[in-house]
Amino acid sequence: MAAPVIVAIDGPAGSGKSTVARGLAARLGFGYLDTGAMYRALTWLALEAGADLEDEDTLAVLAREHAIRFEGDRVLAGGADVTDEIRSPRIDRVVSTVARHPAVREVMRDRQRELADVGDVVIEGRDIGTVVCPEAEVKVYLVADPAERARRRLAERPEIGPEALATDLRLRDQRDAVQMQPAPDAETVDTTELSVDDVLDRIERLVEARARA
Ligand code: C5P
Repeated sequence: MAAPVIVAIDGPAGSGKSTVARGLAARLGFGYLDTGAMYRALTWLALEAGADLEDEDTLAVLAREHAIRFEGDRVLAGGADVTDEIRSPRIDRVVSTVARHPAVREVMRDRQRELADVGDVVIEGRDIGTVVCPEAEVKVYLVADPAERARRRLAERPEIGPEALATDLRLRDQRDAVQMQPAPDAETVDTTELSVDDVLDRIERLVEARARA
């Protein structure tokens, strides 16, 4: 049997990560892990608990004590189905504040590694190729022009409005900058002018090349 493969897909919001990671997992018959959803679910838990989002220790305890689980397409946090709520502007606005605490990231990293351990999985995030799975067989870093990223986000979330979306992207880029570094051995793919299928073809070739190596 072939050795298990981890494909790490990192990049900023609107770079095409989710679409590409889901599509790739479906094409390859791999599992799929959305680490952004985990930070979003933790943010939801923190807001529900009325926690101070600057209080690193409290947030780390919250992360440790509450399982964040995936059931198919659904995201569960503290027993509640939070799939839709974690995509709301109230979470967009503060998720990077929660995600920037090192103690929180440590808990999340360990969880994500456990979930990745099943092998044959596509994992999307910001720090998968650098921190969570530096040993991943295939690492891809997606980028796209800011205008194109804003356009894609608007197509997904028309209710938020173009200005609020552009502001969200700009602020999250600033706050996520520390985590958002491509791994030295990642293949950077600019998706601005590419179709989803083009990007998937390209990554599938990388996975095949890796499997042959
Ligand atoms: O990917 P998504 O936009 O859903 O991620 C939401 C936020 O979670 C990001 O803006 C970032 O602050 C945080 N995040 C992170 N590390 C990851 C995934 C997401 O810090 N691996």
